[in-house]
Amino acid sequence: MHKFIIMGVQGCGKGTQAARLEEAFDLVHISVGEIFRWHIKNHTKLAARVMRLIRDGKLVDDAVVEEIVRHRLDEHDWNYGFILDGFPRNVAQTEFFLESYDIDAVIHIVVSDDVVRERVLARRLCSECGLDYNLIHHRPEQPDICDVCGGKLVTRADDTPEALDDRLSEYHVKTEPVLELFRRKETVIEVDGAQDPDEVETRIRSSLRI
Ligand code: AMP
Repeated sequence: MHKFIIMGVQGCGKGTQAARLEEAFDLVHISVGEIFRWHIKNHTKLAARVMRLIRDGKLVDDAVVEEIVRHRLDEHDWNYGFILDGFPRNVAQTEFFLESYDIDAVIHIVVSDDVVRERVLARRLCSECGLDYNLIHHRPEQPDICDVCGGKLVTRADDTPEALDDRLSEYHVKTEPVLELFRRKETVIEVDGAQDPDEVETRIRSSLRI
């Protein structure tokens, strides 16, 4: 059983690395942002409450996020463990989490804001299967069409320069203190996320000895 939290500024590659660990160790990958995007796509009641905040790059209320995480973990379908991606994002969420759950390690992917700006503004997402593309490093074969399912590629509503600046500042102000807290209580491994994804994965696995 492996229980991990993966952290890093938006666009650091945590979604990619979480998906790789999910695949390699049969983990349940819980991305709160993806759960929200599912609600928005499906026009649920929750979507109406969170849509504006997400579009503007602001954090959604803790109570809503905590309920989603609790509900997901209470399904207990994670026989081989889980990897939480994008949670916790502030100290209150961290305290909530540590009251009820434990983890083996926090994986922190370190990337500078400049690298992130370049990556995020080139990011595209398949509107059908959710696969991530990047117009610099991972271009689709045909412009705006997913190589895997043929779906249309779209830009995330919050991948604009303005929303990105807000998300970066939310990260530095609210999420960096989470890392401080984890460093005092848990194993935190730091990996340079500016390298290519295979190298990042190798470093993560060797630091975790898995
Ligand atoms: P992400 O895909 O992780 O970048 O998340 C997209 C958006 O969902 C964020 O910019 C927030 O608006 C919201 N969100 C995701 N996770 C959280 C969280 N743990 N706390 C508050 N808001 C969140």
